Amino acid sequence: METFVDVIMPLPLAATFTYSVPDDLASQVARGSRVIVPFGRKKIYTAIVENVHFCRPEGYEVKEIYEVLDSEPILLPVQFKFWEWISEYYLCTKGEVYKAAVPSGLKLESETLIELNPDFVADAPLPEREQKILDLLSDGKEKPVTLIEKELKAKSLLAVVKKLLEKEAVFIHESVRRNYKPKTELHVRLSSAVSCNEKVLNMQIDALKRAPKQQMMLLDYLSRSGCLNKAIPDEVSKKDLLANGASTAAFTSLVDKGIFETYQYEIGRLRDSDLKLNDLHPLSEAQQNAYNAILGSFMEKNVCLFHGVTSSGKTEVYIHLIQKVLEAGKQALYLLPEIALTTQITERLRSVFGNRLGIYHSKYPDAERVEIWNKMLSEKAYDIVVGVRSSVFLPFRRLGLVIVDEEHETTYKQQDPAPRYHARNSAIVLASMYGAKTLLGTATPCLESFYNAATGKYAYVELSTRYKSIQLPEIKVVDIKDLRKRKLMTAVNPFSPDLLAAIREALENKEQVILFQNRRGYAPVVECNTCGWVPRCKNCDVSLTYHKGLNMLTCHYCGYTYQLPQKCPACEGLEIRSIGFGTEKIEDEIQKIFPDARVARMDLDTTRTRTAYERIIDDFQNHRTDILIGTQMVSKGLDFDRVSVVGILNADTMLNYPDFRAYERAFQMMAQVAGRAGRKHKQGRVFLQTKNADLPIIRQVVRNDYAQMYQEQMEERQLFHYPPFYRVITVALKHRQPETVEALARDMAQRLRAVLGERVLGPDKPAVARIQLLYIRNIVIKIENNLSLKAVREHLLRIRQEELMQESFRSAIIYYDVDPM
Ligand code: ADP
Ligand code: ZN
Ligand code: ZN
Repeated sequence: METFVDVIMPLPLAATFTYSVPDDLASQVARGSRVIVPFGRKKIYTAIVENVHFCRPEGYEVKEIYEVLDSEPILLPVQFKFWEWISEYYLCTKGEVYKAAVPSGLKLESETLIELNPDFVADAPLPEREQKILDLLSDGKEKPVTLIEKELKAKSLLAVVKKLLEKEAVFIHESVRRNYKPKTELHVRLSSAVSCNEKVLNMQIDALKRAPKQQMMLLDYLSRSGCLNKAIPDEVSKKDLLANGASTAAFTSLVDKGIFETYQYEIGRLRDSDLKLNDLHPLSEAQQNAYNAILGSFMEKNVCLFHGVTSSGKTEVYIHLIQKVLEAGKQALYLLPEIALTTQITERLRSVFGNRLGIYHSKYPDAERVEIWNKMLSEKAYDIVVGVRSSVFLPFRRLGLVIVDEEHETTYKQQDPAPRYHARNSAIVLASMYGAKTLLGTATPCLESFYNAATGKYAYVELSTRYKSIQLPEIKVVDIKDLRKRKLMTAVNPFSPDLLAAIREALENKEQVILFQNRRGYAPVVECNTCGWVPRCKNCDVSLTYHKGLNMLTCHYCGYTYQLPQKCPACEGLEIRSIGFGTEKIEDEIQKIFPDARVARMDLDTTRTRTAYERIIDDFQNHRTDILIGTQMVSKGLDFDRVSVVGILNADTMLNYPDFRAYERAFQMMAQVAGRAGRKHKQGRVFLQTKNADLPIIRQVVRNDYAQMYQEQMEERQLFHYPPFYRVITVALKHRQPETVEALARDMAQRLRAVLGERVLGPDKPAVARIQLLYIRNIVIKIENNLSLKAVREHLLRIRQEELMQESFRSAIIYYDVDPM
């Protein structure tokens, strides 16, 4: 009987593909194993087997798989179900889920190899560059040398190769490269001639009397490996033997004499440490009550919202819950937003759970993520994984609890590319597939979660006192408008007198300060003082941000950088001034006012690497810096205990943001930053500077009145048909030609309206209507909660397909974003 497999390709294609399996591989293929398959005329991919069957597909020629990579599946049955759900709910293909879910080291890359044609004889001398490549290719004596397309590209030799191809001097073919190379180390053992015979060994030791360095190294090996009294000697690496300054020459001699033999030994990259484990901290009474309430709630409900003020000790409660889950033999997944996954938190967990804890971070090397994936499949799987968004895709076998910390964080939603999934919501679905429970923890719940708790869909547990009853900070509103009227503040001064006085006092008391400004760079806009000309990005519809450190203008949408012009290109005026304040300028100004203070800045520009980020936090925590200036990064779950003053320099940028979630987010951000203030025995102070001091949202922040904010926002959400009352799907349309995208948007809106009527709004130009040379239009669809989503989805997929099939829209980009953030 002929065997066939349906596979998922790592491509954004909706169809499944069927391949035949050669007889000798038939016993190896299984659902969830990886296979290498040819695709198109020249490509090769690693696909995942979704089904094994015996029905030959009709209507096309079926290709054979090349290879089976796994003896055991790398994808478990639950994960197939999970991928299916993600692709259905978020309107993407399983191939796109595959691409996002599996570390790239587990997907082989196809690459182009160039090889010499052995029959080629040149009838005339070749140009020098061509001859050079041929020489390079014929250099290998036994087997032909091949060149990789990538290498050639790097050396810009592709054009030359094309010429050689035309002359049939070389061949091109497609091959596969294994991305994941196990990490190895050079290890040593006794050669079989020596090891089998103790007498020979003694003779050798004796013979080395006149080479004492070699003799010592041999004895060192014997004691390290224990090979004289162990059936299986311990592993000894070359590094071990050379560790105490022993000579490399001695080592080489021992190998040359045939006493030592070296080999590559595969070692893991994952850190296993023997650190001493700490006991769990006993919970305070309030924490214990919350813990009991959460456990109790899980008897009835699958999801619990845990609303605990900043520094109430939510993490301690999580740790106790995890402990409980482990005792039951289950696994726990602890999700954190990317930026909140710091050493601070991982060390805290590791000190309790030791090597049972794995860390899955997107900034870790891919090879490490491959090892974690494999480990999760093995008998020795981690019991706890702390990880970012993508860790929901790991192959858990016995998941019992998912904790989503800082559940309100919008970065849990993946923006680009597909799958545009929300890790919190996906985690809830994932947990239910395992019969596991989900805990959503935060000091400032997302409105949707709070609504689900209020309507009884989720359980709700509150923890309203800080640990050790440290008081919540006092928040003082600073009315910038009023101060300017009274000439106590000017447009070129971002600090109010009260804030400056508080900073001064804090510095004198050896306390710390956090200043929050939600704009990076030096100045958000520069302008010609004479004619008002403003430099803009040539790829995007935005003005450029000035970065003083780089002395460059950069676009925050496409990353393009420009020289700062010496004179205005419009009027040749020489005075080009900057307007507004970014974190960089705040840093400059504060250093001018407090020249002795140690100031650090934390924003995207200063935290390009994980170590840079960790260093800033570490310096601040250990009081090597006094003032920390930053964007919203400074609000992310950090726990410092010497911060007595927090300044929110300009709340208005958050409030004026054109989005229905703007107020909710502003509340969350300000409450979170404010939460960094406060020390034992002393109440912290927060200065909230704004021109909109009268807005109710400001009052709500000051009183930490989540309930009032919730009520007010929910009224608006209901009135204007937003979540949680309606489900929003946006349609993003992009094209290089403005007329094309406009026509496409109008056509698509019309088609959508034909089936969905008034639920379709737009098309509209978004605030930034061109990014990276692509013109953008959006259509918004609002769907009432009780409408069948299945039917709607089918329409959406069909209409998208119909648009893309039209000749004029073929090169357009169209995608849906379900529950956009
Ligand atoms: P949250 O996650 O709610 O912001 P944390 O769990 O970070 O709060 O707790 C704040 C601080 O209080 C941390 O330094 C933590 O170590 C300490 N803490 C909280 N609960 C306890 C406890 N039960 N025993 C000892 N220390 C605690
Ligand atoms: Zn000008
Ligand atoms: Zn740009």
